[in-house]
Amino acid sequence: MDQENKNQLNDVQSQIFDRISKNDINGFKQLITQLKGSVDFVDNDGMTPLQHACCKGNREAVQILLDMGADINFNKHGADYTPLHFAALSGNTEVCRLVLDAGINPNSLNSVSRTASQMAAFVGNHSCVETINNYVPRTGLEYYTRPQGQHKEPLILPALLDAFHQFVIEINLHPVRIALNLQSLGLVKHLPGLKKALEHMCEKEMKKTNDVNELMAFKFHYLRWIVGEVMRCEEQCKAQRKEKSSEGEGGKHDFIELFIKRVLKENKLGQLDYLEFTLRDCVREFPFRECTVFRRVVSELAAKDPHPALFVFRNAINGHRSFADETCYCSSCGNEKPDKKCSKCKQVKYCDRECQRLHWFMHKKTCARPTSNVTASTSTSAVREPIDTAELQEELAKMATS
Ligand SMILES: [Zn+2]
Ligand SMILES: [Zn+2]
Repeated sequence: MDQENKNQLNDVQSQIFDRISKNDINGFKQLITQLKGSVDFVDNDGMTPLQHACCKGNREAVQILLDMGADINFNKHGADYTPLHFAALSGNTEVCRLVLDAGINPNSLNSVSRTASQMAAFVGNHSCVETINNYVPRTGLEYYTRPQGQHKEPLILPALLDAFHQFVIEINLHPVRIALNLQSLGLVKHLPGLKKALEHMCEKEMKKTNDVNELMAFKFHYLRWIVGEVMRCEEQCKAQRKEKSSEGEGGKHDFIELFIKRVLKENKLGQLDYLEFTLRDCVREFPFRECTVFRRVVSELAAKDPHPALFVFRNAINGHRSFADETCYCSSCGNEKPDKKCSKCKQVKYCDRECQRLHWFMHKKTCARPTSNVTASTSTSAVREPIDTAELQEELAKMATS
C-alpha cells in the first residue's frame, strides 16, 4: 500500500471514530461502506470501533459492526475492557444482549479483575447486571431441540429455539410477564415439553462439575413452576369448556388470562394470596436443599414479617439493588419504567393498554376513590400517553356484553 492510500485509510478510520463519538449513525453508515479492509482497527487508546460503539450504547452501530465481522475478542485496550465491559457501562441492555449473542465471554476480567457485570453494578446499571447474569448462550439450548434417547420428538421444536431462548433469558421474573411471554413467543401450545426442558436444565446446572450457577438453577426451577401452574389453569379451562377452542381473539388464551387474574388478585388482609401461596410451594419443591440460594430464600420467607415471596425470589436471583431504588414498575407485569398511567387516578403505571386491561378487575376497586390522603404522583417523567380509563371501561363493558 503506497503512502497516499494509507493516509486515506487512516483518515476514514479517524472519521469513523468521530461519527461514533457523535452518535451520527448516518455519517457512520456512509463511511463504513468506504472502508477497505477489516473493521478491527484501533485508535490511540487501543480501542476498536466496536468498543467505541458499545461505550456509546449505540445499538445500530454495534449491529452493523458485528454484521461486518467485527471480532468481539480482538482486544488492544490498555485496561482489558471487552466490548461487554463498555456495553455494561453504557447502561444499554440491548447492546449487552448483542455482544452476548455474538458469543462474548461474560466472565472475562479487565485489568483490575472485574467482570462486565461487576462494572455495571459499580455504576448502578442494574438492568445490565441482570441482562448479563441471566444470560444463557443459545447454543446451550439446542440440545432440547433434538430428540433424546427413546423419544422420537424433541422437547422443544427446532423452530421454537429462538422463542425458548428469549423465554429463558428474560430478566423480569413477574409471573404475569412470564405468562404474557409464553403467549407472545408462541410457546403456549408446547408447555409440557418446555416444563420438562426447564426441569432438566435445573438439574444439569446443579450437577455440573465446576462453575455451578445455583441462581440460574433456581431460576429454571421457578420458570418450570410457573409453566406448571399455567398448565393447571389450562386443565381447568378445558374441563369447563370441553370441546371449545382455547384460543380467543388475536391469539389470546383463556387459561393465560385465568392465570394472570389469579396472580393479580389480592385477598383481604390476613389471607394468603395465590401468588404467595404458590411461590412458597415452589420453594418447597426445589430439589437441591443443600445449596445457599435455597437456604437463603427459606430463611427470608420464614422471617417475622417477611417480604412478599416474589420480592425475595427477585432479590435471590437478580441480587439486591445496591442503590436507592426509585424505579417504578408496571402494576400488572412488573416491567421496569412503564411510561403510561391510569388517566383517572394517575396512581398506577402500565406498559400498555393490555397490562392495564389485565389489572383493571383489581384496580377498579381503588381507582375511583378520592386520594386526598395520598399525595398525587409528582413524577410525571417519561409519561407519554395516559391511558383513558373511561374509554377502557366502555371497551370492557362491550366485551362483557358481547
Ligand atoms: Zn406491564
Ligand atoms: Zn386508576
